[in-house]
Amino acid sequence: MDYLQGLNPPQKEAVERTDGPVMIIAGAGSGKTRVLTYRIAHLIHAKGVDAFNILSLTFTNKSAAQMKQRIEKLIGLEARNTWMGTFHSTFAKILRVEAEKIGYPSNFTIYDSDDSKSLIRSIVKEMRIDDKVYKANTVLSRISGAKNRLISWETYMTDPNIRADDEAAMKPKMGEIYRTYQKRLFKSSAMDFDDLLFNTNVLFRDHLDVLNKYQQRFKYVMVDEFQDTNLSQYLITKKLAAVHQNICVVGDDAQSIYAFRGADIQNILNFEKDYPDLFVVKLEQNYRSTKNIVQAANSIIAKNKAQLKKDVWTHNDQGDLIELIKASSDNEEGRLIASTIFEEKNNKKLDNSDFAILYRTNSQSRSLEEALRKLGIPYKIVGGLSFYQRKEIKDLMAYMRLVVNREDEEAFKRIINHPKRGIGDTTVEKILVSAYEHDIPLWDVLTNANSFLAGRAANAVDDFATLIKSFAIEVERKDAFEAATSMAKQSGLLRDLYEDKTIEGLNRYENVQELLNAIKEYVDNPENEDKSLGAFMQEIALLTDNDRDKDTSDAVTLMTIHSSKGLEFKQVFVVGMEEDLFPSQMMMQSREDLEEERRLFYVATTRAMDKLYLSYALTRYRYGRLLNCEPSRFLEEVDPSCIKVNKRMTTALAGALRNESSEGTNGFIGLKKPASRPGTTAKVHSPSPDFKPSNTNNLGEGNLVEHPKFGYGKVMKIEVEGINKKATIQFDNFGEKTLLLSFAKLRII
Ligand code: ATP
Ligand code: MG
Repeated sequence: MDYLQGLNPPQKEAVERTDGPVMIIAGAGSGKTRVLTYRIAHLIHAKGVDAFNILSLTFTNKSAAQMKQRIEKLIGLEARNTWMGTFHSTFAKILRVEAEKIGYPSNFTIYDSDDSKSLIRSIVKEMRIDDKVYKANTVLSRISGAKNRLISWETYMTDPNIRADDEAAMKPKMGEIYRTYQKRLFKSSAMDFDDLLFNTNVLFRDHLDVLNKYQQRFKYVMVDEFQDTNLSQYLITKKLAAVHQNICVVGDDAQSIYAFRGADIQNILNFEKDYPDLFVVKLEQNYRSTKNIVQAANSIIAKNKAQLKKDVWTHNDQGDLIELIKASSDNEEGRLIASTIFEEKNNKKLDNSDFAILYRTNSQSRSLEEALRKLGIPYKIVGGLSFYQRKEIKDLMAYMRLVVNREDEEAFKRIINHPKRGIGDTTVEKILVSAYEHDIPLWDVLTNANSFLAGRAANAVDDFATLIKSFAIEVERKDAFEAATSMAKQSGLLRDLYEDKTIEGLNRYENVQELLNAIKEYVDNPENEDKSLGAFMQEIALLTDNDRDKDTSDAVTLMTIHSSKGLEFKQVFVVGMEEDLFPSQMMMQSREDLEEERRLFYVATTRAMDKLYLSYALTRYRYGRLLNCEPSRFLEEVDPSCIKVNKRMTTALAGALRNESSEGTNGFIGLKKPASRPGTTAKVHSPSPDFKPSNTNNLGEGNLVEHPKFGYGKVMKIEVEGINKKATIQFDNFGEKTLLLSFAKLRII
């Protein structure tokens, strides 16, 4: 068949070896997903396997759809009959058929996470335990973690280790909640997402006839992104393939980025033990990216200790150097990226959809969205909402709206009992009806609660009205930032989010902080004369209104690195390359965490086909203050021969950096340009074991210093240029260098 010509020899081997267990462990862009696609085509077309007998499991619905399309291109409509989907969608289908075996009706409901959380909230309420301690998010993620490791509530409640954990976390009732939650789900004939996998395991464990039926049906089983499967998923696949043993998994240990959700890289290692006659294929040729990008990605992942050895290379062109974009602030980062996209698009005749902007956390999208909007570049946010559509942003904005306009009914409904202040739906209904029946403004009902409502409800509403009034006074007296910060705090919104320590909760908290940052920037900007909250909201309303009727079919993609797995784009921007942001301060508890962050960086860089940009800002508003940011340690890990500084930067910044560039570094402080061609290593100083950067405020001429890379030197000159203080240092082995003192790590000797 001529389609096999689209494969290199090891790929072809993996495609043709259809029988027996096969594992393809290969680097990014080496054609793993392509092999799966061709393999399915080959099974159907050349081996005459019935499409109904093939099961392939993907990580997202989008990739399943894409794969189906590609197979269709190779072999036609027959492709539609294969079983292809995510673990959840596939086993939900099977459970519908088999539900009665495990006591569920076949029309069982699937609860999404909002349903689950709401159920947990009512259970916590009924148990009369503290809902601040047992937050729905936290409880759900604990239960989810247990289910993904196949720990039932019965085991959960009797396992002494689990109990000790919960007691240490001051949450001893967790097991009881888990039990009640499961019983209630069962009573409502409902399963949550994790149950779909958990119950499939139960079904296959307790009903061998059923298991056997599916073992016979799925003669061939395939799994993409195998490195991110959890135990529950792994066991399902293993059971299904136990008879025929025709199982093919593909993955890349270097791209395992879901440990926080129970994904276990051990699955790859165990696979070899589970199938002694396993055939392992390594793919090392990358077809996606230029030489520069591949080399950079290799240099990054090489820093991880825990990894299987791979040597990824490519025949593709050398390509452009990776561009490092330095911006003076996060807003400027957005502007530089938007204008780069604008120019590249015109110069190279590219589509908007050829570009992707990847960030570590959702809250970073705000400044990027604003910059793209200003240049009229359409964009779409994948796997998330645009910043001002997010729930927590709308919540805080609703407070602002109600303070500015007391009649805003939607804003009122949104926040009257959020955060919870004991005002139930009936009371809210009464308020709305009273305003309508008496034909008076909503606000009049709120401020005369005693006339319309009884006892406790009246008091609670009265307190709410007082709160809004106090905000109104602040809005008059203070600038937008101070007023909004006070609302976020006094309303309890910020505290509510702060106490929620799940990933989702952290994200929301950061988003609210980011809104406050945006307001602070607005207030600090001398161009804005009116610094009131009303003026800020006006500006936002105009900005967000722009999106309507935009055609988003050709749009720049914005997304978190996590959602970019498996995808590719001609040009990719990885933004916010700063310490504490990426690697993320919140996720860094141990060396393993740092390695997971580094794998994320590897995933991000390997999405790029032709051109990669890494950007960072020297300052960023965080927690309402303008902070100096330190470039990410990951930047120093990129092979310096693959990278150069982007020329687009403000003149002030360029001025401050000019000296370094001409001094032989490539402009990035601490990142050294190689003395010669790649391959020969320059003599880099290794810092003394007790190296600790000194405070350089009082650094003076003549001081002796140690630099972690350049070694020992003597300060020749100190200069102040704009906001920057610079030191010219004569290093023993690296000659004279001029460093910005706010960034250079120097130990004064
Ligand atoms: P990731 O780890 O990011 O999921 P992958 O290993 O799954 O990557 P693919 O997405 O399958 O890689 O392939 C990357 C790109 O290289 C795709 O555009 C694919 O079509 C192309 N490609 C792979 N193998 C070949 C080949 N033998 N000839 C031509 N193009 C190829
Ligand atoms: Mg892939």
